[in-house]
Amino acid sequence: MTPDGNAIRPLIAGNWKMHGRRADATALAGELARRARRAASAELRCELVICPPAPLLTVLADIVADSPVRLGAQDCHLSASGAHTGDISAPMLADAGCRYVIVGHSERRTDHGEGDDTVRAKAEAAHAAGLVAIVCLGETEAQRAAGETLAVVDRQFRASLPAAATAANTVIAYEPVWAIGTGKVPTAAEIAEVHAQLRTLARGRVGDGDRLRLLYGGSVKPGNAAEILRIANVNGALVGGACLQAGDFWAIARSCP
Ligand code: PEP
Repeated sequence: MTPDGNAIRPLIAGNWKMHGRRADATALAGELARRARRAASAELRCELVICPPAPLLTVLADIVADSPVRLGAQDCHLSASGAHTGDISAPMLADAGCRYVIVGHSERRTDHGEGDDTVRAKAEAAHAAGLVAIVCLGETEAQRAAGETLAVVDRQFRASLPAAATAANTVIAYEPVWAIGTGKVPTAAEIAEVHAQLRTLARGRVGDGDRLRLLYGGSVKPGNAAEILRIANVNGALVGGACLQAGDFWAIARSCP
């Protein structure tokens, strides 16, 4: 609960990564939209977002239209337009029907050398286009072993968030790099420790920081979702592998307290 007594509505976002062709993507999004349309609000206690690969966005925008399922993208360029071969701008994503865009995922930070300054510029571009930026951060295995987790998260939070970040235009996803796609998950106490720090940072630096949604990501499955989603200051999950099966993703969404 926030100080004003209102619970934060959790957000469950599925990062499809580089998976999906038109036929299976349409079936997966269609099944989620069908379940979400039918679900009573007491049954679906979260906001549900799917983040498919860019070529599928306009196709799936039609599939999830008139359903509670929202569309997000996996990345955006920091410019609104220009000579950037192969890149996709935030205004294009908004035009394709997106409400959200992930920025700073560890696979972008690692595979494409994106640092905090780039992540912040992308979040600013997302905001300028009217999108909600899901800003990812988290420590590597070596950083956790060295006892640097809180320092890394602190640094990434301060450097990756635009000055104008608010609870309305930004979501944080804490994703320990070593937990992504590995089946390894931090203990509840470890997640709680990081999320408590994120809440303190949010209160100091983000407009309406008490309401900023703080997601956990890293090997969330139907079997561990309920325990993770009950941890203090965990306001949802960013889900990779388990979002590619409608039943699993739906079970995670249904696990929201
Ligand atoms: C992710 O890539 O953001 C992620 C959390 O993946 P997974 O759920 O497969 O660990």
